[in-house]
Amino acid sequence: MKSNKKQPSIFEVFEQFNTEERCISHFERIRWPHGLRCIRCDSERVMQFDSHGKTGKVRHLYECVDCRYQYSVTTGTIFHDSHLPLTKWFLAIYMICSAKKGVSAAQLKRELKTSYETAWYMAHRIRTAMSEDVHFCEKFSGIVEADETYVGGKGKGPRGRSTASKVPVIAVRERNIRQSPYAGCRERLGERAC
Ligand SMILES: [Zn+2]
Repeated sequence: MKSNKKQPSIFEVFEQFNTEERCISHFERIRWPHGLRCIRCDSERVMQFDSHGKTGKVRHLYECVDCRYQYSVTTGTIFHDSHLPLTKWFLAIYMICSAKKGVSAAQLKRELKTSYETAWYMAHRIRTAMSEDVHFCEKFSGIVEADETYVGGKGKGPRGRSTASKVPVIAVRERNIRQSPYAGCRERLGERAC
């Protein structure tokens, strides 16, 4: 565990992640710390390009030179298929990770200007990712969880710091999300009791 307990403020997080490009490059570094790789065949020969959709929205994509698979930084992760900007996801992660007593879906909805269903969905996915990776908050928003009892403790066993950096735990599969123990929790999504 880090001895430095200084946590980032919401302003610092907002400054760091106030554009999609900044969020994407941060997420790229988390997902592929040793350089881009194909998520299907693990090849290192990956090209980057931008695709312009019908709405004019730019999508930052990758294509594997070997298997031709095309994907984005969010493909196969908790952010997949959400249509929400990563800037909102990063703020939601900060809010949930920094709230000692949990964050309700209603609060997320209000702060991030989303529908209640979207807020609930985001919180549900973030909580699932947190339960699978003890370093999730630290990776995304720089928040170090000080509570030793949280998600089985810090730095012990196979989830220690040395292995955590190698495991793409943010690639939460849909199967895991559906079977999440948080599935029945509709209120106070950030609470550990959920
Ligand atoms: Zn490939």
